[in-house]
This record gives sequence, structure tokens and C-alpha cells, in this order.
Amino acid sequence: MSSINDNYLSLEQRYLFVEVASRVAAFCQKNPSAEIIRMGIGDVTQPIAPAVAQAMHKAVEDCCHSETFHGYGPEPGYDFLREAIVANDYAGLGIKASEIFVSDGAKSDTGNIGDIFSADNVIGITDPVYPVYVDTNTMAGRRIVFIPCNRENGFTGDIPEERLDIVYLCYPNNPTGAVITKEKLKAWVDYALRNNSIIFYDAAYEAFIRDPKIPHSIYEIEGAKRCAIEFRSFSKTAGFTGIRCAFTVVPEELTALSADGREISLNQLWDRRQSCKFNGASYISQRGAEAVYSPEGKIQVKAVIDGYLQTASLIRESLEKAGLNPIGGENSPYIWAQTPGGMPSWDFFDLLLNKTGVVITPGAGFGQGGEGYFRVTAFNTKARSLEAMEKLTELVKSL
Ligand SMILES: *Cc1c(COP(=O)(O)O)cnc(C)c1O
Repeated sequence: MSSINDNYLSLEQRYLFVEVASRVAAFCQKNPSAEIIRMGIGDVTQPIAPAVAQAMHKAVEDCCHSETFHGYGPEPGYDFLREAIVANDYAGLGIKASEIFVSDGAKSDTGNIGDIFSADNVIGITDPVYPVYVDTNTMAGRRIVFIPCNRENGFTGDIPEERLDIVYLCYPNNPTGAVITKEKLKAWVDYALRNNSIIFYDAAYEAFIRDPKIPHSIYEIEGAKRCAIEFRSFSKTAGFTGIRCAFTVVPEELTALSADGREISLNQLWDRRQSCKFNGASYISQRGAEAVYSPEGKIQVKAVIDGYLQTASLIRESLEKAGLNPIGGENSPYIWAQTPGGMPSWDFFDLLLNKTGVVITPGAGFGQGGEGYFRVTAFNTKARSLEAMEKLTELVKSL
């Protein structure tokens, strides 16, 4: 018989959101008339910007005529998009179009990037965390060291004493909504340069940053081009969770060692990997992504995010009043708060669901470091979010 990759047997049996959905479904079956308010939504809810829709309509039209038809595109993305990314997202940071790899998602890229690294690398992962980093490294059989993120270190982790080969950082953070200052990010970059480590920087929520002091890109830090790969996505920026378009930045000066001790270019290796295993994001979604950078596109996309941020701010305020010490919700669509009286997070999830019909995400689902916390997202409407927060506050008062 053939044999499987046994590393898969070490994965958690169920993906967090599958467990949440199954508990909500069981509750609905028992209480068919109960009203559910979903405050755990990890997906955008507003429609795509008109400028983006228009560009995609035109791209469809292009494909309807032999003179403008587009088949397979270049694997790393069309130049029109790579150049728009460089000019807008990396102006003044010295990133080149040849360092941008367009893809169909940051989830797949943060998972697939492991393909070009040996299984011997020791991986540092902040805890609590977006589960993809943990699961994909477990699949590859790599050793993971968890870096606790807590109130004391501003949920940005303490710089480790030991040497780690690769460290995943994500700011603004999912699930905590924490942001990182330039000083702290510099401390991580210095750590990586000192140790010849590589940082995988997930900036999927960069577009939610409003505070001018908070860095949007790790390349704002001196030396980061020698130690960091950055992941970005149009998913949360411009409502592309269903359309699919993202990109990964692999600087040309970035290298890692081969088994015989040679320094190998990671840009070339990733290019080789992508051109073999990936056939490019669709022409239509890349034209849509290009329009995110048009003058109208920029205004429209910002207005949508401003709406989410207003909801986030209201949620944070309510949780503050309820005495649950929230963080996040500023420069982020996520709010992270303490369960009342330090209740285990799945107990609080069940209690809140059963008493009020409000669904949150239990912190323990994001790792041990999430125990005693829960995540609320700002993707539901303002009115429903406020209603949910009233119900939650009343429940907390009654305990
Ligand atoms: C939503 C999200 C992404 C984006 O994933 P896509 O595959 O581009 O939709 C990446 N990282 C984190 C932490 C996210 O929450």
C-alpha cells in the first residue's frame, strides 16, 4: 500500500472555524427561533469598490475578443500590477517589480513559502496566532517554538534568547488586533540580521493602519531587505476574499544556505517554485487589483475600511465599559478582550451563545496563549454589532 505524510496526523482534528460552526449549528437546531448575531466573522462583508468592479467588467470584455484575449499570464503576475504595487505600496522603499510575486492569496503563499526551506529549520511562531502558520509547518514536520504574546509585551512577543531560523510576524495582528511600533519591529529585524534568520511578515491588515507612526511594511526598517519576506493581500484591503489576489515580496538580496553551504537567492528559488506549481492569478482579478490603486479606487476602498474601523471602535468602547480590557480595534478590524472572571474561553463561547445568541471566537482556538481571551470582529453591521455588545454587556453584568 502507498503511505501518507504522517505529519498530517499531528494536526488538530478540526479547524477552529469548523468547530465554531458546528456548535452554532447545534444551538440553532435546539433553538430554531433564536436570533444569532455573528461577531466572529473573519471575512469582509461589504461589496467591492465600483472602480474595481468596472475594471473587472472591462477585463472580462477583453477576454471576449481575440485581439485582447488573455490566456496564461506571466507566473509572477502582470507587469501592470507589479508596477502599480511598487509605485503605491513601496514608494521610496527601494522595492523593485521583479521582487513582487502576485498570487491568488496570502493564505496559500504563507503556507507554500515553506516549500523552498528545509524541514530542519526551527520556526518561531507568536502565540496566539493565525492557525495557518502552525498547521503548514506541522505538515512539513518542522519544530515550532512558540513566542508568548501578552499584555506585558504589548502582544508583540519578547525577542527570543535562542536562535530561530524563521519567525512569523503578523501586524496588525490576527487575532489580537495588536500593532507593532517601528522600534519593536526594528528589534525583530536586528535579531534576524544578528542571527541570520528570516522573518515572514504577514501584513494582510496593513490597509487598516491609520496611525502615521505605525509601520505599513517591514521594509520601512533598515536592513529588512536582507532578512524579510512580506505577504500582502487584496482580501481585507479591497474585499477580494472571493475574487482572490495577493502578493509576496521576496527581495533580491535575500539568501539562505544550501546543504553544501552556498548562499542561494530566495527570489530565484521562489520564482522557480511558483513557475512550476502555480499558473498565475487570473487576468480579471489582477485588473481589479490594479484598480485598487486608481484615484477613485483608493478613495472607495478607504471609505469601506473606515466603516469597519468605526464599528471596531464602537465594539472596543463597549468591551471597555464592560470591564473586559480590550486591545485592538484601532488600526485593525479585530478586538481582543478578556473573558469575564478569567473564564475558559470555550466556556464563555458556549455561555454567550446559549444565553444571547451572540457568536465570538474563543481565544484558545488561536493557541494556548489565547486562553482567557476572545476575539470579536468588526465585519458585521454597526447596528448588529452594537446590539451584540449590549447583550454581551448584560450577560457579563449578571455573572
Ligand atoms: C485574511 C488573512 C490573510 C489573507 O488571506 P488570503 O488568502 O489572501 O485571502 C492572510 N493572513 C492573515 C493573518 C489573514 O487573517
